[in-house]
Amino acid sequence: MLEAGEAVTRVAVGDRVAGCFQTACGMCFHCMRGEYQRCVESRSFGLGATMGSLQGTQAEFALVPRANLVLQRVPDAVSDDVALFAGDVMGTGYHGVVASGLGAGEVAAVLGLGPVGLCAVQAARLAGARVIAIDSVEQRWRCGVHSAPRRCT
Ligand SMILES: [Zn+2]
Repeated sequence: MLEAGEAVTRVAVGDRVAGCFQTACGMCFHCMRGEYQRCVESRSFGLGATMGSLQGTQAEFALVPRANLVLQRVPDAVSDDVALFAGDVMGTGYHGVVASGLGAGEVAAVLGLGPVGLCAVQAARLAGARVIAIDSVEQRWRCGVHSAPRRCT
């Protein structure tokens, strides 16, 4: 982080940080329950005027409003590659599984095996679920172990 406003206290100049794709106010009904993704004042980065008019963040620098909630310091033991992976596609797949309440012994269907879908498969398997992975793209049917589409355990 290069610069911080005077109200920013959870992260500091020089910290490696990762952030969410959207902002949250921290004070509304949903934020008070920790449901920041449902914030009534949420704005999203890079999605235009209808989503809050924030610039995209696939850039060298970005202005991040409400940085105390949006940004998290990346621990020193976490590499840049792992932080990027965990903060982007894996977070989406993982939180989808957590929000579903999926548990051990249950069955999950994951529709779409792009990066997020593959992470959802991993998170669901880690939760102890049996996973049915579905994709219309034939190249994604192979699991990496087997040469033809099949049931993998
Ligand atoms: Zn809020």
